[in-house]
Amino acid sequence: GVDILPLGLAGEERPPFFLLLFRDHTQARRLERMRTDFVANASHELRTPLASLSGFIETLKGPARDDAAAHARFLDIMQDQARRMSRLIDDLLSLSRIETRRRLRPNEAADIADVLRSVAGQLGPQAADSGLAVRLVGLDGEGVLVNGDRDELIQVFANLFENACKYGSDGGRVEIGLRRDGEGVEAYVRDFGKGIRAEHVPRLTERFYRVEEGATGKPGTGLGLSIVRHVLTRHRTRLSIVSEPGKGATFAVRFVRFLDAIEKT
Ligand code: ADP
Repeated sequence: GVDILPLGLAGEERPPFFLLLFRDHTQARRLERMRTDFVANASHELRTPLASLSGFIETLKGPARDDAAAHARFLDIMQDQARRMSRLIDDLLSLSRIETRRRLRPNEAADIADVLRSVAGQLGPQAADSGLAVRLVGLDGEGVLVNGDRDELIQVFANLFENACKYGSDGGRVEIGLRRDGEGVEAYVRDFGKGIRAEHVPRLTERFYRVEEGATGKPGTGLGLSIVRHVLTRHRTRLSIVSEPGKGATFAVRFVRFLDAIEKT
């Protein structure tokens, strides 16, 4: 629909001018469509492991009742499927919690160096146990305040760090750090694994999008980066993804320093 509002007063010398407002009905329809697609996708993603679980239960009760070797094998698969369902539910709950959250207040500050140190502290030991070298870069100077919610930012960088460990493991090391410059700071997670081919990069933050599904891929839900994008949008910033296939990937987020952020609002 188009609304035409006359601006300017009658009797003025200059002719009134008109402001055209294009109200976007297709936008509302698209959002509604996204929501129904999302529910359909989420149900599908949950139903797949559930169907597999039911199938194995039937087999264990029936044909394989007395087959001890099959029991062990099927129980392992069932455990994987149950884990997959619980990961999905955790991610779906995270997404919906973020969606219903109030707006970020302009006076909320978080120390981004501390956020990154805390992620490295929580997840670093596990990465080291699995043979990855974890390097912290630029994190031991003084803190850097940005406008943000500490817990949400921890979730962002924990997701990025977990991905770097999961998909970059063949690169042998993972880097988490800060690059400071004049007005801002860039927080990043970098790995040296197989990287991401260019055609996938723009789609990575879509819900449920995964480059490799199934047996060839690592376990995951395809929701991690959409959660990241959501949180960063709330923080009025966004994710930049740079990757050279075969050499690794860098996921970076720019923030303005807190004082600068206040001056601009
Ligand atoms: P998940 O890890 O659960 O699949 P994400 O939304 O976190 O979901 O990631 C989406 C996809 O992006 C992953 O399935 C993977 O294919 C790709 N990806 C994410 N991080 C990396 C990385 N560091 N290196 C290579 N590919 C990545």
